[in-house]
Amino acid sequence: MSVVLGCIADDFTGATDLAGLLARSGARVSLRLGVPDQAPGNTETSSFEVIALKCRTAPVQEAVDEAKSALGWLRTAGASRFFWKYCSTFDSTNRGNIGPVSEALMSELGATQTIYCPAFPENGRSIFMGSLFVGEQPLHESPMKDHPLTPMRDSNLMRLLEPQVKGKVGLANRLVVDQGVSALRDRLAELQAEGIAHVVVDAVANADLAIIAEACRDMPLMTGGSAVAMPLPSLYLADGALAADAPKAEKPQLAAGQIVLSGSCSAMTRKQVANFSAEATALKLDPLALAENGTSAAHDWLAQQPVEAAKIIYATAEPPEVAAAQERLGVETAGKLVEDALAELAVQARNAGVRRFVIAGGETSGAVTNALGVKQMTIGPEIAPGVPWTWCRSDGHDIALTLKSGNFGQEDFFTRAYDVLDTQ
Ligand code: ADP
Repeated sequence: MSVVLGCIADDFTGATDLAGLLARSGARVSLRLGVPDQAPGNTETSSFEVIALKCRTAPVQEAVDEAKSALGWLRTAGASRFFWKYCSTFDSTNRGNIGPVSEALMSELGATQTIYCPAFPENGRSIFMGSLFVGEQPLHESPMKDHPLTPMRDSNLMRLLEPQVKGKVGLANRLVVDQGVSALRDRLAELQAEGIAHVVVDAVANADLAIIAEACRDMPLMTGGSAVAMPLPSLYLADGALAADAPKAEKPQLAAGQIVLSGSCSAMTRKQVANFSAEATALKLDPLALAENGTSAAHDWLAQQPVEAAKIIYATAEPPEVAAAQERLGVETAGKLVEDALAELAVQARNAGVRRFVIAGGETSGAVTNALGVKQMTIGPEIAPGVPWTWCRSDGHDIALTLKSGNFGQEDFFTRAYDVLDTQ
């Protein structure tokens, strides 16, 4: 299938977020973990392809090289428009990587101008006169000012971008955006005539994003948060760039076997685990016991459960219990013991015929997808905002996988996940 939009995201969660928003349109969206080894001709592609990199805080040259290689893959897959997705809080340092990657992609594409719009009004990220706000606070007063890797000490996106790029930086402000699509296009052309390659665009509401997406939809490269990309599928459909009969994401035939694996200790996950444990068979993993006796008791337990039964294996624990384990074992070792155990149990479950996996925890999800050998996910129906089911292949089997990090989802998320799957 020809690719309408090729997207490159600077981290996995951001890629999932973007893929989920694009999929709300009903178009088929594929998420790939890293630049695929296989050439596009040897794999089925979707109308929207999202490649998740892990380059937000990588050295600049590494980020640029990875992004160029992702671009190369997407171009070979037939894409002619591209989207560079970064965090809605513009997470970066003076050295990059947002600007350098944009500039490298522009140069590959021969693009003379791009836009920067990290706004996500529904999540409280807005841009006014070039300054980024988190809720009612300017970025540099928000908790992002103390981020361990990318502390954001300035809210002005032009000032943040300038040291990252060689080209000139400008602004299309809210007053222009408010005047509509052609006013914004005129402003971009005016800035282009002044040699301005990098244009920050204000947006404080979804209506602004709709205007920006419409005005910029045919730029070779757009950059921003996920929200400005959300209107694109319906615009491409109206333009005819996305065929009305383009294949949709189809749920594969899945056997009934199911399991929930949770390594998240976030407050919402703790409630979700308690909620689901009331109706499912449950096994709790204790990192101290894992350190002492290994995983064989958990493997034995799992081997005794019927494949179809509702079941959950979790290390989810209250903060004092987590702290005690971390004190005895070290934070990293405690975390790794749990992640490795859940990853091994996921493989055991798959080998026993489980095909419906719910995974809780960002790091845990990384460990499990890796162990299951999942490299590509087609986005399915949303269970909660930002958390879709995905269809993947693992060891030659079709599986359904949902990755729920931290505080996402409602209290009955796990039950709801299986309900959503059954009603598909
Ligand atoms: P979240 O998305 O909620 O942050 P993650 O999976 O990213 O969840 O992170 C949770 C981390 O805590 C993982 O490294 C996991 O292995 C670790 N962990 C889980 N349970 C325990 C526990 N009982 N004691 C110590 N560490 C734990």
